[in-house]
Amino acid sequence: MVKFQPNKNSARSALEEWQKSIKKNLFITDGDFLHSIRYYLPKKTKLLQELTDFADKVVNELEPLVIENNLFENLPRIDHYNGIGEQIEHVIHHPNYEKAGNIIYSSRLLERMAKPGDLLEALTFMFVSSQAGEAGHNCPVACSAGIIRVLQKVNDFPLKKAYLKKLTAASYTENFTGAQFLTEIQGGSDVGLNDTQAFQDENGAWRIEGEKWFCSNADAELILLTARIDKVNSGTKGLGLFLVPAQLETGDRNHFTMRRLKDKIGTRSMASAEIDFHGAYAVPMTPPGEGFKMVMENVLHLSRLFNTFCVLGMARRAYHIAYAYAQNRAAFGYTIINYPLVKENLARIKSENTALLSSIFATTSLQDAFDKGKIKGEETKLLLRLLANLNKYLSALWSVEHIHHSLDVLAGNGAIESFSTIPRLLRDCIVCENWEGTHNVLRMQILKDIARYNIDDLFLQNLQSSIAKIPSANLHLQKINLGVDNLKKDLSLLKSMIPELQSLQIKTVVDQMAILFSAVHLLTEALDQQNTGTSSKMYSLEYFLLLHLETRKTAYEPSYLKLITNVLA
Ligand SMILES: Cc1cc2nc3c(=O)[nH]c(=O)nc-3n(C[C@H](O)[C@H](O)[C@H](O)COP(=O)(O)OP(=O)(O)OC[C@H]3O[C@@H](n4cnc5c(N)ncnc54)[C@H](O)[C@@H]3O)c2cc1C
Repeated sequence: MVKFQPNKNSARSALEEWQKSIKKNLFITDGDFLHSIRYYLPKKTKLLQELTDFADKVVNELEPLVIENNLFENLPRIDHYNGIGEQIEHVIHHPNYEKAGNIIYSSRLLERMAKPGDLLEALTFMFVSSQAGEAGHNCPVACSAGIIRVLQKVNDFPLKKAYLKKLTAASYTENFTGAQFLTEIQGGSDVGLNDTQAFQDENGAWRIEGEKWFCSNADAELILLTARIDKVNSGTKGLGLFLVPAQLETGDRNHFTMRRLKDKIGTRSMASAEIDFHGAYAVPMTPPGEGFKMVMENVLHLSRLFNTFCVLGMARRAYHIAYAYAQNRAAFGYTIINYPLVKENLARIKSENTALLSSIFATTSLQDAFDKGKIKGEETKLLLRLLANLNKYLSALWSVEHIHHSLDVLAGNGAIESFSTIPRLLRDCIVCENWEGTHNVLRMQILKDIARYNIDDLFLQNLQSSIAKIPSANLHLQKINLGVDNLKKDLSLLKSMIPELQSLQIKTVVDQMAILFSAVHLLTEALDQQNTGTSSKMYSLEYFLLLHLETRKTAYEPSYLKLITNVLA
């Protein structure tokens, strides 16, 4: 290594090189992601080209639109009344919002996910588009997907086919988008506290009366909401699930008004409002008593899978921006990528993000097999619920850290909104961390499912059957097997505890489950990748195991330095 002293001009040229580097196609330059597509979706022959074209648009068209749309002066606002004083509740977006939407929806993501068995294919586009951040559209895309799932399961009603056609249209200008309103001021996690009422009017039509506190995609054409249908049954049992169109068949606005838009830390180009319903017309989606089950099994379950791809995409982009920066930025005579502390930080981000991506690919692939009817049964459904919760939890928790630590690589420049997209990625990711189930709520749901359904047994069976496909002499597998033994010990300890202690102990158990599932599936992919002559995933796995399944040595050794260098190669 030759020592050099950058001056003003060479430092600026280095930054230009960095900018060029992060403008490259983010799909074809991401060999590990490319390999996952080939591994899981080998028959989708057109997909590689479609993703390449889409990734090009994401970097060169979508990202600049989103950057401008997210400037403070371009955020959405409401016009409550029109010029002649009629209440219109019109959300005004910057023109870039529509342009960005048209790029995202042009991927045909929703048309793809509407086909049973093609969810993974659809979500690969989510992973690519979310590298430009939430973009104001990824939450609505996930909400629309939830409504599509519900409509595919409920009995026919007059406009059902027309709604499905509009929801799956590949254009933001032409389509309908969906929203999901569960949260009320008295509680988001505790949906059973919902107080918004559903009642039938004198003609038998269903009406909604009450307020919803967090209403993202407030200007959606179709709203799915929970409302209290039954005053006798409290909690979630008394909730119904309804579809509320923003516009009535007469062409008039449905009966709801917006108090204000939320001034949010992230996802700022999307309109999130507080909404009052004044006897709004609604279509019931389920028989009484089944609304919450429908929402949990379809809407929230699916949103958690979407959320995982979304946060992993954001963190992946932050990593690539930081890595390219480290290759170009110099300090104290050397490019900073040469400093072991910088390498270690980046290697951790890369290996954990790669492991979590393997986990969500394996989970969504299982979901596709289930949706296609290749695997059947209540047990698979329960397992998928556990896996969705594990993925949503750990991916959101770690991605916020990963984006934060990517920002550290850019240091002062990392904190500047106009310098890179990392500050916005971080803000958007923090929001994704809190919706669709907070960390604690997901941990507690897993604890309840262990007690009620023994889902830990289902999890261990599934893990063992994946492990059985890996050659037993594999050295990494031995470390994983030790991790499985430790998990079993911790699970039996958990079951012997009093409830208060269980709610603390579950944290370690859930972390171990998510880590082991990620490790097994990363190892499986890494072995396949090695057959193509590449060891990138194997290095990520090795470091992942060292970080999470081995006892760290107190003194660092040259082999450690070599490993973190290899992870980044
Ligand atoms: C930008 C944004 C947009 C949103 N959009 C929507 C939307 O469109 N539709 C919608 O329905 N909601 C939306 N939400 C709301 C979101 O889903 C809720 O914030 C979330 O469900 C958590 O609910 P809460 O905020 O009421 O927190 P609470 O439920 O009040 O939780 C507060 C804290 O208590 C913890 N906690 C709760 N229960 C337990 C327990 N049993 N054990 C341990 N800890 C516990 C939680 O983890 C959390 O840390 C949005 C939120 C944000 C930030």
